This record gives sequence, structure tokens and C-alpha cells, in this order.
Amino acid sequence: MAKIKQRYDGVVIGAGIAGMQASLDLAGQGFDVLLVERQPSIGGIMVGLNKVFPTLDCSSCICTPRMAEVAHHERITLLTYTELDKIERHNGAFRVSLTKKPRYVVEEDCIGCGKCELACQPLAPHEFDYGLGARAAIYIPHGNAIPQLPVLDPDYCIFDGNCARVCPTNCIDFTQQPEPVQVEAGTIILTTGLKTTPMDAKKEYGGGKYLNVMNPLAMERIQSSNGPYGHILRPSDGKIPKSIAYVQCAGSRDKSIGVPYCSRVCCMYALKHGVMIKHELQDAEVTIYYMDIRAFGKGYEQFYRRALAEGVRCVKAKVARITEVDNHDLVLRVELIDEGGRVADIRHDLVVLSQGLIPGWKPDGTVPVELDSDGFLKVRDMAVRSAYSSTDGIFVAGVATGPKDIPDAIVEAGAAAMEAAMYLDRIGWRAAAEPVGAGA
Ligand SMILES: Cc1cc2nc3c(=O)[nH]c(=O)nc-3n(C[C@H](O)[C@H](O)[C@H](O)COP(=O)(O)OP(=O)(O)OC[C@H]3O[C@@H](n4cnc5c(N)ncnc54)[C@H](O)[C@@H]3O)c2cc1C
Repeated sequence: MAKIKQRYDGVVIGAGIAGMQASLDLAGQGFDVLLVERQPSIGGIMVGLNKVFPTLDCSSCICTPRMAEVAHHERITLLTYTELDKIERHNGAFRVSLTKKPRYVVEEDCIGCGKCELACQPLAPHEFDYGLGARAAIYIPHGNAIPQLPVLDPDYCIFDGNCARVCPTNCIDFTQQPEPVQVEAGTIILTTGLKTTPMDAKKEYGGGKYLNVMNPLAMERIQSSNGPYGHILRPSDGKIPKSIAYVQCAGSRDKSIGVPYCSRVCCMYALKHGVMIKHELQDAEVTIYYMDIRAFGKGYEQFYRRALAEGVRCVKAKVARITEVDNHDLVLRVELIDEGGRVADIRHDLVVLSQGLIPGWKPDGTVPVELDSDGFLKVRDMAVRSAYSSTDGIFVAGVATGPKDIPDAIVEAGAAAMEAAMYLDRIGWRAAAEPVGAGA
């Protein structure tokens, strides 16, 4: 485990793009930061995306340099695979209680050679590829993971000792236990990000039931050159899809599933997917069934026009239900708005549900902050204090406060770091001068 000090200037919870940026910006002002991530690697959703709209830059190519910067920053200590238990006020500061989960690997000794992973059977569904590929019981989360350290999943381990036998540094430790960690900090930044709405939120769409009804994040992985297939193939039979449908607002703007708000990024990611599919599969048809296209950001409307020009079809329609037919193909019953409400059954061989964004984490009383009615972290004043939580000294950024794209998450993270720095100055806080931690 990284060398953990007792006191930090700031603790940042969640190491997606917002948390990494907030940490870099706070540390860049000379403050000591502890960045806590519950997953074995930092990077959040962004590191698993294929390209980013509207520029179509490679997402991991933008994200991984930032991940490396975080890992090598002398004022940032990284604590991965760690759960937040509680944050309480204590003597004008915050006391943060955490639990470092066992990797069953001695982090200081591991050289990340991957021999343990090769010696282990890949029998578990790979989380990074949303279950479309397989991983071993002991595995480095993905090629760009930081830290490049394996984690052993006891649920899939058969304890044959193969990994320990091939380990050149003898760092496999089956006896590791969860380790409590407690630190004090002057300020907290919460950047706990997003989940997508559950696949079966709308039962009539068959998500989680039909093999070829897909989650958009899984589709990002399928489109990635380092994804589970390396090409765009459909999950049921590995064939090249010829007709792909996107169902917009499949988990947003729908009171019946408790997500009445617009998730903001779904129109843009569906258009991005459409363009990427047309680049790889020129003959494939991509149809986006939408209620409204919301292309809200800089260059987004132009990107929408580009997608149309490159052959992506946008059809104003409401999708009532999806039924699986022979060959795992899918029939969408749609009401075509621009055709006077005509109802049609349209067949596709792959369907992506454009699911909405919901909070990635709920404090459930562990942190003294309030929530909005939609479950995102409440900000004190949307108009002028969007980085302030409801509690003095706790700042917020990224999708933790509501759906947004990467540029907005980054800008908010910078704002939260600046507000946190000003708060530390205001209260006269400075972490005791101890040697800086270096981190895994
Ligand atoms: C399919 C899809 C495609 C997208 N494409 C684009 C695009 O092309 N361009 C674009 O601008 N935006 C895109 N987005 C939006 C983009 O993913 C988000 O804007 C961005 O990921 C938000 O970053 P974040 O740091 O706020 O959240 P996240 O990326 O979710 O990071 C949050 C981190 O916090 C961690 N965490 C959560 N709770 C805890 C806890 N209690 N303790 C410790 N750690 C915790 C999580 O494990 C995670 O690593 C897309 C979204 C989706 C769903």
C-alpha cells in the first residue's frame, strides 16, 4: 500500500476524469492530496470509452497521460481499491475513514509483469468489457490500468497456487485482509461520477434478456480496437451487424423509471457511435430513434450535421417495445412521429439502448452532504456556486452533481479545486510537513 500520512490538505473521493483533474489542480497549488478510488484502477468511465465527441479523439489517449500524471505527482497519494466508510467533522477538519480492500498481492513488491495472470484460467466475465470478454481470477484490470498491479478475485479463484508459483517476486499473499485507513483533511472533494440506468429499467425493451440488446458502454468497448472483439461484431453469434438501431431516452426523461431528467450526453454518444460504425462498416445501416436531438455543446450541432451527412439516419419516433425473433434479431415496434404517428414493426440485428446517467454513488449517511430529488449531490447554488456542496469545506464536481460531458466535468473539477484551495487558506489549514507520499 502507498505510504499514507495522517493529515492531508484535501481528500478527493473518486478518480474518474473529474477527480483526477481536481487532484492535479489542488496539488498544483502546493497542497497535499489523497485521491481515493474504489476500483483497482483510476480513470473512471472515460478510460473505457472509444473516442470522444465531437472531435473523435481517442479517449484513452487523452485520459491515460492524466492518469500517469496523477500517479507520478509528488503531492498526490493514490489509494486504489479502497472504499469510503465515513467522513465526519472533527476539530474543524474532516476525519476520513476508509477500507483498503485486499488485492492479495503485495503492492510494493509487485513489478506488474502479468505472469500470474497468464498462469490463471480466464473464466470470469471481464468487467472492463462489460462481460463481453473473459478475464482470469487474478488480473490487471486493463492495458492502461494505473497502477499496473493485478487484483485477485476470490470468487473465481480455485486456489491452485499457479499464480504464486510463477511470481518472480513472491508477492501473492492469499492471507491479506481488508485494512482500515483513517486520515484527517482540511477539505474534501467528491467526484463520484455515474452509472448508467439498469439495462432492465424498461422491461419492454428486453435489456439484460436479449443478447443483442446492448448497453452503450459495452458498445464503446466493442468499437474499441483494444475491445473484446477488436471489430464491431454482435454478441449473439459474432457476425458483422448490418442494421443497428439506437433507442434514445431509453433510461432518461421517463418518470415511470424515476429518471425524469435529460442525461445530456446520450444524443451525442449515439451520433458518435453512428459515425464510428459507418467508418468501420460502410454498408451497415445505423438508425437513431429519437424524441429530440439535444446537441448542446461547442461543435455538437456541427457534429450532428456531420453524422447525417455520413449516412446516420435519425428518425423521430417513440419505441414501444422490442421483441426478439429468429436468429436473435430484434423487431422494434415504433410510432413514427413524422409519419402522422404510423405504427410500424422494424427489424434490426443489433440494438443499443441509449441509457441515462444516474449517480455512481450515494452517501447513505456516510458523508454529511445533501442530495437533490434525483439523487445527485446537491450544489449550494446552481447559478453561482456550482462547486459547493451543502456542507462547508466539501466541494463537488463532475457527474456526481448531475449528467454532463467530459469538458464540463473537467472545468467543474478545476473550479472545485480552486474553491477548495481558497477554503484551506480561509481556515488557515496546512497539512503537517511530512515527506510526500508516492503512490500505487
Ligand atoms: C456511453 C457513454 C459515452 C460517453 N461518451 C462521451 C464522449 O464521447 N464525450 C464526452 O464528453 N462525454 C462522454 N460521456 C460522458 C462521460 O463519460 C462523463 O462526462 C465522464 O465520465 C464524467 O467523469 P466523472 O469523473 O464525473 O465520473 P466517472 O467517470 O464515473 O468517475 C467517477 C469515479 O469515482 C469512483 N467512485 C465512485 N464512488 C466512489 C466511492 N464511494 N469511493 C471511491 N471511489 C468512488 C468510480 O469508481 C469512478 O472511477 C459518455 C458517457 C456514456 C455513458
